[in-house]
Amino acid sequence: MGLQIEINPIKHWLPQINNPLIIAGPCSLETEEQTMETARMLAKDHRVFVYRGGVWKPRTRPGSFEGIGSIGLKWLQMVREETGMPVGTEIANAQHAEEALKAGLDVLWIGARSTASPFVVQEIADVVQGTDAVVMVKNPVNPDVQLWVGAFERLSRAGIKNLVAIHRGFTPFRETEYRNYPNWKTVIELRRIMPNLPIICDPSHIGGKREYLYDISQKAFDMGMDGLMIESHRDPSCALSDKEQQLTPADLAKLLDRLIIRNVTTDNKQFENQLELLRNRIDALDRELLEVLSSRMEIARQIGRYKKENNVTAFQVGRFSEIMEKRVKLGESLNLNGHLVHQLFQHIHEDSVRMQTEIMDEE
Ligand code: PEP
Ligand code: MN
Repeated sequence: MGLQIEINPIKHWLPQINNPLIIAGPCSLETEEQTMETARMLAKDHRVFVYRGGVWKPRTRPGSFEGIGSIGLKWLQMVREETGMPVGTEIANAQHAEEALKAGLDVLWIGARSTASPFVVQEIADVVQGTDAVVMVKNPVNPDVQLWVGAFERLSRAGIKNLVAIHRGFTPFRETEYRNYPNWKTVIELRRIMPNLPIICDPSHIGGKREYLYDISQKAFDMGMDGLMIESHRDPSCALSDKEQQLTPADLAKLLDRLIIRNVTTDNKQFENQLELLRNRIDALDRELLEVLSSRMEIARQIGRYKKENNVTAFQVGRFSEIMEKRVKLGESLNLNGHLVHQLFQHIHEDSVRMQTEIMDEE
């Protein structure tokens, strides 16, 4: 059952949208000139609908560039005036929210570190209460879907209906090639809980490097995301923050050219019929799978009774290791992912043992 909160589609606050929502602009606004020049270059690409630029930058360690501050809001107003593009920035406390609203910014977003703090989200919600602000919420740094949902609930209770989620990846718990690992499972879970909520992807903060942006963006569209927020700077080599992950507007255009945007559904009848046939086959195979599983469990039950009669424990470590090793090998020879087979048999075996201990406890 989905969560019942009222959310407007993107078209409601961005009527000119005719494609996925692409938001682009520098990680940080640095100078008036860099802000304007980057915006002029991006405005020529009609696939870019919103200009982003960080004004207050949350930095993990102090001492690096922490943003240009409030003057940047004025530059964003100038961008909108000159190019007509809606503009947005990140807000991380009540004061930012007040200033950004006062400056009339079109889009505000709550960054990943802030989403992780319900106090921060609430103080922002209190400021935007009763306005028709567009508020985007990045996922919290930890993969806790409830914290993400909670932020939308706080904003919704403040009367905000123009809401969008941004998947920007999660803090990795070990060394990974990406800066923040994308956790599509959490994104799917968010979609299940809030089916009407538009979700876009921020490949820049997921990848951390230019070379990964294409693959992550394509994956986002394959997963049915509604758009991208992507960092673009007129000259990334001298950016004051996130220089490795920013694209020039020209490279952004090339990336957008290569992306294949898939439809969630189609009107093509032949496609629908073929899909229906394939889905029927999947349904039949799933039934077979469950019937086989049920027979397997019945045998496990018999084994349980047999073990009980002979006073032998339900769990035998040797047998468990043997099952795991052999099944993974067999699965791989059948073209199945070893990890999937491993997990599957872990669950099956765990449930067999649970059932057998129940049998042993019966009078
Ligand atoms: C940003 O968008 O520049 C940013 C700081 O993002 P995040 O909150 O995802 O780290
Ligand atoms: Mn950044």
